[in-house]
Amino acid sequence: MALSEKSWQSGTKTTLTLLMFLMAVLIAAVAGLVWIIAGRAIFWYRLIGLMLITGLALFSAVTLSGIVAFYLLWYNKQVPNRLLSMVNLYLQWLYPVLLAMGKSFGKDINEIRRAYTRLNNQSILGRKKRYQPSEVLILVPHCIQQADCSVKLTNEIMLCRECGLCDISDLIALKNKYRVDTAVVTGGTLARKRISDKRPKLIIAIACERDLISGLMDVRKIPVYAMINERPEGPCHNTHINAREVEKILNRLLER
Ligand code: SF4
Repeated sequence: MALSEKSWQSGTKTTLTLLMFLMAVLIAAVAGLVWIIAGRAIFWYRLIGLMLITGLALFSAVTLSGIVAFYLLWYNKQVPNRLLSMVNLYLQWLYPVLLAMGKSFGKDINEIRRAYTRLNNQSILGRKKRYQPSEVLILVPHCIQQADCSVKLTNEIMLCRECGLCDISDLIALKNKYRVDTAVVTGGTLARKRISDKRPKLIIAIACERDLISGLMDVRKIPVYAMINERPEGPCHNTHINAREVEKILNRLLER
């Protein structure tokens, strides 16, 4: 079953709540600092205080743009391209803070990750750029392969016998139809190798929320369309992809 709209909405709502809490903390910190330095005539106190206030104000600006972006996302509205271009800033600055906050408030961390991947994907679709099939690389985790299948696919996906017991056969059908390179990877190291061998201009990555986010943090210079896999038998075991969703994205992003 594909991730439902409700699940995306819930992730966005959690992220939005955490961002608003963070914003309140930042405003309180700035107000506290202003109050502290206002009562001190010592130069160094004021200088350090002003530097801290500037840093907090910058962080507040990123947080505020995050609130606007996720608010629009929550209401299924188009996020303006200028806000979307800050997606990398969210990942570097806000994501680690949100993750720590989410953990301490006992939130489902994957919800925060899902919301971020949705924002990331919207930023890729919003660019309205189309790619040649040769410029695209689809990366698939090896756990999509049926656990007791003996074929080794990490060197060559076409070794699959297309028995239909797992979704690899659907991916091969898409690979043949759209002529897009598809690689099965066992982790970040092999994924990085495939990327450096192929040098794609667009990556479509299928994985769990955690691996997708760490991939997005790793590969900053190439747009990565992130698709979350389905895990009916738990993590890393006989996972699934929604081939129809992959095809829909190929149709939106490929030059036809
Ligand atoms: S489709 Fe069949 S042969 Fe191919 S990877 Fe899956 S189980 Fe193995």
